[in-house]
Amino acid sequence: TTALYIVPTPIGNLDDISTRAIEVLNQVNLIACEDTRHSGKLLSHFGIETRKTALHDHNERDRANWIVSQLNEGQSVALISDAGTPLISDPGYHLVNHVRAAGHRVIPLPGACAAITALSGSGLPSDRFSFEGFLPAKEKGRVDKLTALKEDPRTLIFYESPHRIIHSLTSIVATLGGDREIVMARELTKTFETFLSGTAEQVLQKVEADPNQQRGEIVIMCHGFRTEATLELSTVVINTLTILCQELP
Ligand code: SAM
Repeated sequence: TTALYIVPTPIGNLDDISTRAIEVLNQVNLIACEDTRHSGKLLSHFGIETRKTALHDHNERDRANWIVSQLNEGQSVALISDAGTPLISDPGYHLVNHVRAAGHRVIPLPGACAAITALSGSGLPSDRFSFEGFLPAKEKGRVDKLTALKEDPRTLIFYESPHRIIHSLTSIVATLGGDREIVMARELTKTFETFLSGTAEQVLQKVEADPNQQRGEIVIMCHGFRTEATLELSTVVINTLTILCQELP
């Protein structure tokens, strides 16, 4: 079928590519890559020789028009990013939007995604969560964003880069509080995969004390805001209720 296929690639361990992903990447006429050189290595590892074209944040809108013209000519296209699921903190949104508006099929394949992989192994509530992508690089923006999320009851998921991890953990302690339960997942699916958990204050201290924890690719997850389950009733109210209970039939 003429379609745009959205194809996830591994986030570390090459064995995490799916059989279907390899099949699709072999069969399409064109693969739109975030970085053709980076993806070239992955594709040649799997012996895929399909033609490549670049689609990154800076040319996505122009490229989207051209890809629609390829689809109009009956060419099938796959979109991949450097790692994981395209569109998840990666390019692809404008392309998918444009391709759908032009009336073409978009066929997404399921596959590796750091946020979901991290959450599923974190031990934090997974029934409701909010994926927040990368925190702002500047402190003011970061603190504002975290403050707005402070009372959100859902598990919060953030992507982080190694050179900003200390800054982000510091902002989390300052806004959500040092006693907020958090989990830091690092180097998922790779040799040095690590989960650090504890209060925000404890995790910050562990990361500060160990430069190895400041390396690689990182997902930070924060327990959602907990509301006081126990209502604090005043003694006057409790005494009155006790008397009422005794008097009522
Ligand atoms: N599209 C990707 C996905 O589906 O997860 C995410 C791309 S985003 C540009 C890169 C960020 O994802 C990293 O900075 C890190 O926060 C997270 N990430 C990617 N691979 C990871 C891994 N193996 N372990 C932990 N985090 C990872």
